[in-house]
Amino acid sequence: MVPLLALAHAPEPGHDVLLLGEATAEQTPQRACPPEVLARHQEVLNVPAPPEGWSGEPQAIDVFGVFTGEVRISHGNRQICGNMHDARTRDSRFRAGIGMVVVPKAGDHEPIVVSWTTPLKAYWIPTVRLGAPSPVQQNDTARLLVRVSCISVAIALALSALMGYVTAKDRSFLIYVAVCLVFVLWQAVLSGLSGYPEPWLPVYESAAWWQVGLSAVTLGILLPVLWRLNGGDRLWPRSRLAQQLVLWSGVTAALCVPWLGTGGLAWLADVMEHVFQLGSIVCLGVGLWALRRRDYYALAGLLALLPWWVMMLADLVQAQWLIAYRIEALQLSATWFLMMSAYALNLRLGRLRQQRDEMRQLADTDGLTGLPNRRAGLRLLARHLDRPSHEQQPLVIGFLDIDLFKDINDQFGHEAGDQVLVAVARALRAAVRTQDHVVRMGGEEFLILLPGANPAAARTRLESVRQQVAAVSPTLGLDGLALTASIGLAVWRPGHDDLAGLLRRADHAMYCAKRAGRNQVYDAESGTAPDPMPPA
Ligand code: GH3
Ligand code: MG
Ligand code: MG
Repeated sequence: MVPLLALAHAPEPGHDVLLLGEATAEQTPQRACPPEVLARHQEVLNVPAPPEGWSGEPQAIDVFGVFTGEVRISHGNRQICGNMHDARTRDSRFRAGIGMVVVPKAGDHEPIVVSWTTPLKAYWIPTVRLGAPSPVQQNDTARLLVRVSCISVAIALALSALMGYVTAKDRSFLIYVAVCLVFVLWQAVLSGLSGYPEPWLPVYESAAWWQVGLSAVTLGILLPVLWRLNGGDRLWPRSRLAQQLVLWSGVTAALCVPWLGTGGLAWLADVMEHVFQLGSIVCLGVGLWALRRRDYYALAGLLALLPWWVMMLADLVQAQWLIAYRIEALQLSATWFLMMSAYALNLRLGRLRQQRDEMRQLADTDGLTGLPNRRAGLRLLARHLDRPSHEQQPLVIGFLDIDLFKDINDQFGHEAGDQVLVAVARALRAAVRTQDHVVRMGGEEFLILLPGANPAAARTRLESVRQQVAAVSPTLGLDGLALTASIGLAVWRPGHDDLAGLLRRADHAMYCAKRAGRNQVYDAESGTAPDPMPPA
């Protein structure tokens, strides 16, 4: 039995080393293409030796851009038959391309032969890189890193959107997660990572079908999202139906893909190409139009479009970098698109949150005085009373009612009455500490919350509040106005009082103050009330 872990030498002191494995007589495993695969190989490239023959040094050869089927590289009696979607069939020194290292004899003239199946699309042009093993392998590894990174970014974006959904419960986050996952699958098939380290998608023989199918779904998502990012939605809200149509056309096309022959597949790939070009032109136009109308959110859409436009223009001039690095370029464009979409999604959510906050603020504020209204006041009070016992602070509340306010309205008019209410609100706010709350409960009634104050201090403070109200009259310039207020004071008794009970006692104390002649603070606890009046 071969030991799995062999220690060649006992480690010497100071020179600890663990040597694993053992010397091998095994040749690098080679994989020959079976005859039926070779029969499909219409394209053959003879990489010739230099005029003076090979140098005798190792030659690395790495093939990229053959998306479907096996690539065969052979020289002399050495050959490899590797498939992009199954790393097990490939030379492990090359991870992004299908490569091999050969050592032709010095002066030998035999070419290295590469063959493959004609690609589905005219611009899927295979690229063959020849050179010393080290730089060729480094280039191969760099490509792999770019491909893996792009997929990792898409996965990270999906996870962060999932967390966004958990906190914000907004459906658009889930849609974004689905978009990221489609892009992950599409990139995995495009880059061959679906076969790494072992095939985890059943792509092997049907890579072209997977690729066209996933491209159709991707396109169905890409175009509507680009449309939205470019402000199409804001310019034409009715375009939603057309967007749905594009999405479902993509999905339907993808569902039909398994039944297509190679001819049909090539045709569909071609149609999608043109649809994408047309869509990009339309989205560019919409984005520019939106910008002209000062919709600056469309900038995200124009930026998302940018790499696709660069690629389309590079295709027009048959740029060599795009031919050589098409997979990486496509993946980087997709990653950029996903990042721009995430940015736009967060912007949209920020706007919605802001609108919601503004609405909430409006709903909680009294329009005339700017104070919290009854609803917000009751919530403040409830929050205070509901605190856990170890966090509970003492609380005193004052229920303030302007005296004979009806007469003020009658005498000076309703508008002057409003003016008085605003001035009183301002005086109340100025008379209390920052941690206190003043609430307009409705009409000419205000609630003052004094958390943390002991009853004696609170009484003094409410007394000063009463005086401040009286001091408002001269500032209003209304002849003969003698403004006063009656205040009912109640101390919260934890364990005895609920919210309604506390309010009722304060209200009752206020009525007692009215009965006692108005313009005074009446303490619900004092027990010196004149004949109590039932609360109105
Ligand atoms: P009391 O001393 O017993 O409280 O007498 P009062 O006149 O203040 O009592 P009452 O509750 O009968 O009158 C309150 C008046 O406040 C009646 C209503 O017309 C007036 N009012 C309520 N809301 C507003 C408002 O927003 N603006 C103005 N100008 N008046 C208001
Ligand atoms: Mg009243
Ligand atoms: Mg009143």
